[in-house]
Amino acid sequence: MTQDAQQTFPEIREAVRRLCARFPGAYWRALDRERKYPTEFVSALTEAGFLSVLIPDDYGGSGLGLGAGCAVLEEIHRSGANGGACHAQMYTMGVVLRHGSPAQKEAYLPKVASGELRLQAFGVTEPDAGTDTTRITTFARRDGDHYVVSGKKLWISRAEHSDLMVLLCRTTPRADAAKPSDGMSVLLVDMREAVGNGLTIRPVRTMLNHATTELFFEDLRVPAANLIGEEGKGFRYILDGMNAERILIAAECIGDAKFFIDRASAYARDRNVFGRPIGENQGVQFPIARAFVQMTAANHMVDHAAALFEAGAPCGTEANMAKLSASEASWFAADMCVQTHGGFGFAEEYDIERKFRETRLYQVAPISTNLILSHVATHVLDLPKSF
Ligand SMILES: Cc1cc2nc3c(=O)[nH]c(=O)nc-3n(C[C@H](O)[C@H](O)[C@H](O)COP(=O)(O)OP(=O)(O)OC[C@H]3O[C@@H](n4cnc5c(N)ncnc54)[C@H](O)[C@@H]3O)c2cc1C
Repeated sequence: MTQDAQQTFPEIREAVRRLCARFPGAYWRALDRERKYPTEFVSALTEAGFLSVLIPDDYGGSGLGLGAGCAVLEEIHRSGANGGACHAQMYTMGVVLRHGSPAQKEAYLPKVASGELRLQAFGVTEPDAGTDTTRITTFARRDGDHYVVSGKKLWISRAEHSDLMVLLCRTTPRADAAKPSDGMSVLLVDMREAVGNGLTIRPVRTMLNHATTELFFEDLRVPAANLIGEEGKGFRYILDGMNAERILIAAECIGDAKFFIDRASAYARDRNVFGRPIGENQGVQFPIARAFVQMTAANHMVDHAAALFEAGAPCGTEANMAKLSASEASWFAADMCVQTHGGFGFAEEYDIERKFRETRLYQVAPISTNLILSHVATHVLDLPKSF
């Protein structure tokens, strides 16, 4: 068995690798220092059609299944790059595809597929409503043929680099809804019209270069024609998009883990201490081998979850478990890689400390490890609910 045994989509992977080779570590390090957006990289991916692989061919995409999207994102991450700048372009359109009206699909999906419109922003989290989404308070009040939106969102990534945003807001206060998850609706917000007319975006500097922001809505008027699906049912629409998001992000973690394993193996073969390669010491070898075992196990879980998703089968638990395993495998591999490199693991020019910071995110977002464990405990193992 080799590291890359039985890889899916070999042609797509090879093409993504070639594209990523044009954006080496120096490119990412310079952006990381300034917290700048990788515009050239995202444009190159868009032009090559990699961000529209999941859009049906009737709307100008490649019409491929989720496994193809996973292959693209895994290779991006394995190369040392980061798909966080644009991965939402792949899955956010799923809300429009599955729940939008025929007119909305015709109006937006071909332009998203061609790259004319960027649908990169997904607005759910709020300062006082993270994991407990039903507590969101951003409110859309109907006023004639418009909704008037007021409230605040936090951690909304890529908002400054997106033409459209899928926004979840309340249309009925939580207290008046039949169930806490009722009374939320999805609006497609045109950012080009909204910014400066009721929407203010404030960047939030974080430990990684992720273009994340805080959003302030003050009586933003959104045409009622931009409501996706039925009013009050938005939570359901967002939830079924989350499985795709979790599986795709798990694939990014697999790519990160492979990056760390590749780098650590190469360094352990080359670095001589006490007159021999450090990789000859089992104390150095074994953590690399363990990272490989963990990554391989997680990779199978990601493939399994993607296959269920593609078959239209229920896959909530599998998507969650794949994301948990892959994010833990990438974090273990990151820590192992720093340790294998000794002091050089901390040097910017090796890209390891940057990738270490980047891969840490995935145990918190898009859903934290504890919440996945709680799902498995209560939905699969029938343990009592704690909240
Ligand atoms: C860089 C970045 C980018 C992001 N991008 C987006 C985006 O584009 N769009 C968007 O909508 N959101 C985005 N998010 C938000 C992200 O999805 C949330 O941070 C995440 O869901 C966790 O929510 P929270 O931060 O409010 O944590 P909280 O819900 O406040 O939880 C804090 C901690 O407590 C734990 N916890 C909470 N309740 C329980 C419980 N009952 N049992 C056990 N443990 C519990 C959690 O696991 C977590 O570790 C982003 C976040 C970051 C950091």
